[in-house]
Amino acid sequence: MGNEFTSDAVVGIECHVELNTNTKLFCSCPRKGTEEPNSRCCEICLGHPGSKPSVNKKAIEFALKLCLATNSKIAKELVFSRKSYFYPDLAKNFQITQYEMPLGSNGEIKLPGKAIKLKRIHLEEDPASMVHSGSYVLVDYNRSGNPLVEIVTEPVMESAQEARDFMKQLITVLEYLEIFDINNCVIKADVNVSVRESGYSRVEVKNITGFKEIERAVNYEVQRQKHEAKDGKKAMQETRGWDADKGMTFPMRQKESEEDYGYIIEPDLAVIDITDDFVGKIKLAMPEMADEKLRKFLDEHGIEETTANVIAKDRKLAKMYEEVIKEVDRELASKWIRRELPRVLNYQKKSLEESNIEPKHMISLLKLIQHGKITEKTGQQLINMLGEAPFDVDEHVKKEGLSAVSDSSQIEQFCKEAIKEAPKAVEEYKAGKEKALNFCVGIVMKKSKGKAKPETVMEMLKKLVD
Ligand SMILES: [Zn+2]
Repeated sequence: MGNEFTSDAVVGIECHVELNTNTKLFCSCPRKGTEEPNSRCCEICLGHPGSKPSVNKKAIEFALKLCLATNSKIAKELVFSRKSYFYPDLAKNFQITQYEMPLGSNGEIKLPGKAIKLKRIHLEEDPASMVHSGSYVLVDYNRSGNPLVEIVTEPVMESAQEARDFMKQLITVLEYLEIFDINNCVIKADVNVSVRESGYSRVEVKNITGFKEIERAVNYEVQRQKHEAKDGKKAMQETRGWDADKGMTFPMRQKESEEDYGYIIEPDLAVIDITDDFVGKIKLAMPEMADEKLRKFLDEHGIEETTANVIAKDRKLAKMYEEVIKEVDRELASKWIRRELPRVLNYQKKSLEESNIEPKHMISLLKLIQHGKITEKTGQQLINMLGEAPFDVDEHVKKEGLSAVSDSSQIEQFCKEAIKEAPKAVEEYKAGKEKALNFCVGIVMKKSKGKAKPETVMEMLKKLVD
């Protein structure tokens, strides 16, 4: 390793993503469900002698979708291998994975201005979870056999920021494909990090959980290695662990080399042909991805770039936007779906589904604004309430009398009162201080309980004063 690199730091990521299938990878036990330990297991995922695995077709489809979305070269055959090691989280003493021939290879994840090359994408089963409890350890096999895809990048990222951008983009892709549930599925990663100062001596950091932690771990490790090099310590290749609580890495055992795992082809699973026909069917069912949506929002809809980016990156926001613009002006819809909707969800700490805000709610609300029936301010109050619990917006506006005051005699009355109440502001305005009249606008807004349109009020005030 070494001389081919030129950047300050070099980062590669190997991450394991749980696929949101209904059942496990090699048996029909549910992937999710009761949390009672060891309640979702059978002889296959417990590795009883004589039990035979069979592959979950959905998991293959999901992994193939990811291969297609990343322009990976797809293997002609699905071949599984046994990775042998002895540890209580593996009842069989081996993990079924793919080694010799990954399902996908040479793919890429596109970032703005750079494509992150993917070495491989493959399927494997999750081991059990170990529960440490005081002086003893318990093993829960509920997770054992859950389907994972492993995604391995080339060491081509140059900073923690770039690692985060990669993970974000990967999650966008996974969510668009609907093969991953960000609220319920786990991402785990090992990263390799090296810096120029140490001659790019490679350090592996294992067992990082969650995509935010990946950025933290890379950041920490880049700084640590730079400091060590500065202090004149001799760089060494090593394996470290990540302590999320302390926010630091620590030395671990020396890593086994791949040969130590004694891989053999899994004899209990037949080699499955991945036919062009099968791949073709999956290709046909591929959704429109974030990149395509972004291009459409920019070129066809003429939406402002940052707004288009934010919406396209989030599959659920994009879906909401596309539904809403069937009845609402695009610019208005994009503005509200980018800013107001996420603001409310953030405040309520809810996902869009959890909030139960549907396109119909946004359509009613935005139509009222678009047609001047309510003010933006009333709209904001309404969307806040929708965040708590959705309701029929039109009915509510009617019942509560929230319609914008467009009755000009009513506004005129308020304006006349305001002029009387704020003679100083009026004087200043007459003396040439344009902004002074805003004070009167404020009074009218208060009198109308926010239901008058500020522009209309200003116009009316000017007419009355001049
Ligand atoms: Zn099972």
